[in-house]
Parts: sequence; structure tokens; C-alpha cells
Amino acid sequence: MSLATEIELLESTPAHKGVQLPIYMDNHATTALDPRVLEAMLPYMTKIYGNAASRNHQFGWEAEQGVDKAREQIAKLINATPKEIIFTSGATEGNNLAIKGVAEMYREKGNHIITQVTEHKAVLDTCKHLEKRGYKVTYLPVEADGLVDVKKIAEAITPETILVSIMYANNEIGVINPIAEIGALCHEKKILFHVDGVQAVGKIPVDVQNDNIDLLSMSGHKIYGPKGVGALYVRRRNPRVQLVSQIDGGGHERGMRSGTLNVPGIVGLGKACEIAGEEMEAETKRLTELRDYMKAKFEAALDYVHVNGNMEHHLPGNLNMSFVYVEGESLLMGINDIAVSSGSACTSATLEPSYVLKALGLGDDVAHSSIRFGLGRFNTKEEVDYVSDKLIDTVLKLRELSPLYEMVKEGIDLESVEWTAH
Ligand SMILES: *Cc1c(COP(=O)(O)O)cnc(C)c1O
Repeated sequence: MSLATEIELLESTPAHKGVQLPIYMDNHATTALDPRVLEAMLPYMTKIYGNAASRNHQFGWEAEQGVDKAREQIAKLINATPKEIIFTSGATEGNNLAIKGVAEMYREKGNHIITQVTEHKAVLDTCKHLEKRGYKVTYLPVEADGLVDVKKIAEAITPETILVSIMYANNEIGVINPIAEIGALCHEKKILFHVDGVQAVGKIPVDVQNDNIDLLSMSGHKIYGPKGVGALYVRRRNPRVQLVSQIDGGGHERGMRSGTLNVPGIVGLGKACEIAGEEMEAETKRLTELRDYMKAKFEAALDYVHVNGNMEHHLPGNLNMSFVYVEGESLLMGINDIAVSSGSACTSATLEPSYVLKALGLGDDVAHSSIRFGLGRFNTKEEVDYVSDKLIDTVLKLRELSPLYEMVKEGIDLESVEWTAH
């Protein structure tokens, strides 16, 4: 497309009143800090600056009290006990600590790990690292709806299997895995179960007892808390999980994760969990309605659109849709006052289709035409209207320029066309 056409596209979209631009609708990537979380954190950035590990004075005690309270708030949200919460810098570190920590600790028992191809890179790359160190990893495929088949996990288990790592909810397509079923299977087989819970904790009910989860990673900034802080739940009873630490030092966090605690961050994470627990029900209802409303608008106005991922087992705020016969990059350019993610991942110089969408069986061009909408706490109905109207408008305009779309509309079977190279 020429630059002139692109500029024309940008300038000719419908005007909406009452929304402030740009609009943020990328809440799987990160979320805004909730003002109530900031308020809870502020005293710990100024007055209460003690080191939570300083046991012999008031400054340390006050900081430790803040940390203890956060431990309770987090534990309550996932039905754990405070002692089972290990603070980290986020879920990347949590996933590394859980998977490498188990792999090293239980090496005598076995060297096999089971995961799935649609995990976050923090899990996949950790597994790849372990493969180089002599571990065996099974990367299970997913079904066309994005869910993992529990039968396939059962079949993959060998006497060498020490860990299963399956995410609670996927960050691109929003599908929620059958975690309780997988947990029951792992428990029965006496295999540890790690769950990347980043997209689920605080959004949908997560219960480590009911789900038989042994290790659960979470991250503050995905739930309206601060960036650079997270937690790893490590089960203490039935079974008592042990980990080889990945960061050594002063023996903080029961020796599993040394380093002076990020007290303001931890207090913020705790507050974010408390709010999430209190507001989960209402927020789920509101976001599900907004999401379904947006989806219905797309489906009413456009043909050749489809949803990616099972919609029954789905996060409230997630919508991943393919707008076939438009080029994802042009689409994003046409909606450049809206922050969403596309089905393309910029890896170095090339634009790669998302490996998650590819795992569902989508072709490269369909994957590239996909958009992930991540609705969150601060999105309004007016914003949803603006975003959907602008997107529909842009898709219609781009399709007017698309020879492929024209051919499809004329009833030409694209499969039968013999393309000639120029
Ligand atoms: C964001 C995310 C992570 C990584 O969290 P960080 O806070 O960036 O370390 C891991 N897993 C999933 C599913 C995520 O969405």
C-alpha cells in the first residue's frame, strides 16, 4: 500500500466523542497501576524504608510487617498459606526458579519434563536451556481450540517424568486449560505440577488446593500492580516441594531466592491481589459483557472474521480475532491510536507469525491478520465502541483494496488459482 493511501485511511475514520486517545487495550502485555495500589505503596517508598531483613530495629520491623501482610493477601487469593509465597522479580523469574529449581533438585528421580507448545517463552526457553543440560522435554501440541488434551499428558508420562508445566490461561488467545484435571493426574502419578498463572491469578478463581498445583508463578504488573515484582507459590505440604535456588546470597525467602526484598513492590502486589479478590466477580461480568459486545459488533459488520481459541473456557477480557484478507501490518497502521497486539511477533528483522496461533493450525497469512484485544479494569464501553468502529472501518477499506478479497467475493476458489511468478 502506498503511503498516500495509508494517510488517507488514517484521516478518514469516524470521529468519536468522549474518548481519550490513544486507547490502551493491551492488558495481557501489562496493566496500568491501580491508584489504590499506588496509595498503599507510597509510604514504603519514603517513610518506611527499612530492610525487611533487619531484625534488630523498628525500621526493619515495619518493612517486614508490610511484607507479611502482602504474603497473607497473596496467599488468600490462591488458597495457600503465607509461608508458601516466595517473592520474585516477576513471572519470568518465577518460571525459571520453578522449572530449573525442580529439575536440579529432583535430578536423581528423573530427567523428563512435560510442557506444551503454547507456553510463554519464559517456560519454553527455560525448558530449552534444560535440554542443553541433558534433560528431556516433551512439548505437547494443543487442539485446534488451543486447549491441551489431558489424555496426551497422561500418555507422555514416563517413569523419568519429574515435572509437568502447563499454563493456567494463555496470554494470546485467552483459553483456560483444564488445570484441576491435570493437577489430579499429576498428584495421582506423584509428579510435580507447575502452573504459569500470570494471566489467570486475580482474573478467575485460582485455588492451589482444589487444583493440586505444586508451584504457581504470578506477576504484579499483569493485575494492576507494579512491574518488577512477582511471586512463586511453592507447596509446603502433601508434598513438600523443594527447589535448588537460582539466586544465592543472604538466604532470603527460605533460601530459595536471596536478595533484599522489594518492599514497596511487594506491598503493591499484595494490595493488587486483595482488590482483585474483592472485585473479581463484578469485573468478570463487566469484561465478559464488553468482550461479547465487541465480538458481536465485528461479526455483524464483517464477513470472514473468526475467533481464535475456545470461547467457553476463556478469560473475560480476551478476544483474539482474525480479520482474513487484510494484512495485519496495514490493519495496525490503520488503528494506530489504539494499543492492541497483532498475530505477528517481531523477532529480529523479520515479522514472524505468532507461534501460538500457528499451533492452532492457522496459516501464516491468517495469523498475521489476527488481533488480540486485551480488555481491562480501566476500559469503558465508549472505548470499546471507538475501537470496534474504527477497526471495522479500517478492515472494510483495506478489503476494498484487496484483490484476494475481491476474488473470494466473486466466488473464485483461491485454492484452484494457479499463481504465476513475475
Ligand atoms: C507476562 C507473562 C509472563 C512474564 O511475566 P514478567 O512479569 O514479564 O516476568 C509469563 N507468563 C505469561 C503467561 C505472561 O503473560
